[in-house]
Order: sequence, then C-alpha cells, then structure tokens
Amino acid sequence: MVTELVLLGTAGAPLPVAGRGGISSALIVGGRVFVVDCGRGSPSAFANAGLDFSRLEAVFLTHLHADHTGDLPGMLLYGWGVRTGDDGSPLPPVRVYGPPRPGALPEGDAVFRRQTTIHPELPAPGTTDLVQSILAGYAYHLNVMPLDSRMPDAGALVRAFDIPLPAQAGDAPQAPVAVFGDDTVRVTAVEVRHGRAAPALAYRFDTADGAVVFSGDTIVNDNLIALARGADILVHQVADLGYLSRHGPGPAEDERMAALLTDVTEVGAVAERSRVRELILNHYLPADPEAITESEWARRAGQGFSGITTAGRDGMRRKLRPPE
Ligand SMILES: [Zn+2]
Repeated sequence: MVTELVLLGTAGAPLPVAGRGGISSALIVGGRVFVVDCGRGSPSAFANAGLDFSRLEAVFLTHLHADHTGDLPGMLLYGWGVRTGDDGSPLPPVRVYGPPRPGALPEGDAVFRRQTTIHPELPAPGTTDLVQSILAGYAYHLNVMPLDSRMPDAGALVRAFDIPLPAQAGDAPQAPVAVFGDDTVRVTAVEVRHGRAAPALAYRFDTADGAVVFSGDTIVNDNLIALARGADILVHQVADLGYLSRHGPGPAEDERMAALLTDVTEVGAVAERSRVRELILNHYLPADPEAITESEWARRAGQGFSGITTAGRDGMRRKLRPPE
C-alpha cells in the first residue's frame, strides 16, 4: 500500500491570484482518494495530479468559508459520469464531512457588522445543508443530464455528514472526534479557532504508513497541537500578518486577521510542540507567489522547529514512508 499526500492548491483567502490554486489537498491511501477542502480550481488540480474521480471516496471540509468550499459543487458534479462500477451500477456515494450548523449566527460589532442577512430562514447552514443546497441548485443538471447521457443514479452521488462536536470542558485539549475509519485509514477531528468562523476543524489521518494532520485555518491552538502530536506530516496554513498590516487598511483589520490565522513566525513552535517530523506550509496569505518567495516562507516558518520545514507548492507530492 502507498500513502501519498498531494497539495492540490495552496492559496489562502477567496480572491483568485495568478500562479496559485485555491486551498485543497488530497491524501491517497492505497488508491483511495480523500480530499481536504475544495478551494478554487480544485477539480482541475485533482485531474492535473492524475487522480481519478471514480476513486474519490470522501471530502473533508475544515470550515465553510468560500475559499475552502467554493469548488465543492464541481468536485461532486464534474466527476459524476464516471462514478459507475464495472456492471454499470453507481459507485458508493462521495461522503462529505464538515462542520455542523453553529449554535447561533455570530454577531458583529460596531466596526465589523452585517448589513443584510442572507437567507434569514437559515443564515448559518452547516455541511449537510450546503450539500443539500448544491443538489437543489443543480437539480436541473442532475434531472436532465440523465435523459441525454448514461449517468449513474443521482441519488447515489453524495452523502453529507455533520461532524458532531462535544462541548469543550475546562482547559484540557478537546478529545478528537472519530469521523471516519476502517482497516486502512482513520480520520479524527478537533475544533480550532478561526475568528467567528465556528465551528472550524483540523483533521488527522492515520494510516499504516504514518499520520498526516491538516490544520485548517486557525490561530495557535492547543487542540490542534494535541491532535498533531507525533504525526509524520503537519500541513499548516501560514499568514504573514506583518505584510498584511503594511498593505492593509488599518489596525482594526490587523486585529481581526490576528484572530483568524497563525502567523508564519508562530508556526515553527506549533510544529515543535507537536513533535511532527515535517511541517509543510499551505494556505499562504498573502497568496500571491510574487509577494513572498517560497524559500522566505520556509525560512521564517522553520524558526524554532527542529524537524523539516517545506514550503508547499501546488502539485507537490509527498509519499509517507512505511515504518521500517
Ligand atoms: Zn481560508
């Protein structure tokens, strides 16, 4: 069995930039494909990486900001036609896991507030709501395409699951939630902190070849550090908050940004505390590859970390080494 990480896209934030795809990663475990986040261009990146839509087994969403979910419709719908077995029957549905609805719609304040509340009857939909809305919005395609092309049953395309999150008790790190598991791969998740985008999740994949952890978007967080403990690879977002401040509109925005993301100067200590073997950077902010070079990202992120620091790049692959 081979376990391999593929970075499909490494740009943070919704605004498209030239030269980097939106945030998305794949973990291939013995030919089965698991995707974490579906940012801009992820279906094309999936194809460019040589991955097969008939092998896509599950998608895991870290949170429901558009830079992580915007191309989920394409990830499901573009590959629909090949999701058939040898006998023509539909393959098992793609499973989509992600955060549930939050307990309440977050409030704003005097500086950052909503003007219009969109869809007030369900203003903070969760993962199953999102997938239901995708199916509803694309009902035309799903109902009409099978009349002109041989398509598998649309009812077997996807199943969505809201990950139930326990309330955090005291200061101890949250016990990881079992999300998915069988003989070859086990997926667990914890809640992380990403401004008002709650719940936001980090995921850990354990396989016979080793463990890979995806931070999602978060400030420095003890749940994540506990989840990542001893993993082979920690795929972690980076932001250069100083750069964003120098190019941003002002201190109120700086403060918000610091409540959303881990700065590049902090991520080495996160990796060190987690005792991971390799730190791989993704979700760059600024996302523009011209703004900061990969070697500069890696140099600054690696401060205080005794393991390997690698600046992730779209299309980068990393095989996990099975234990000797
Ligand atoms: Zn993001």
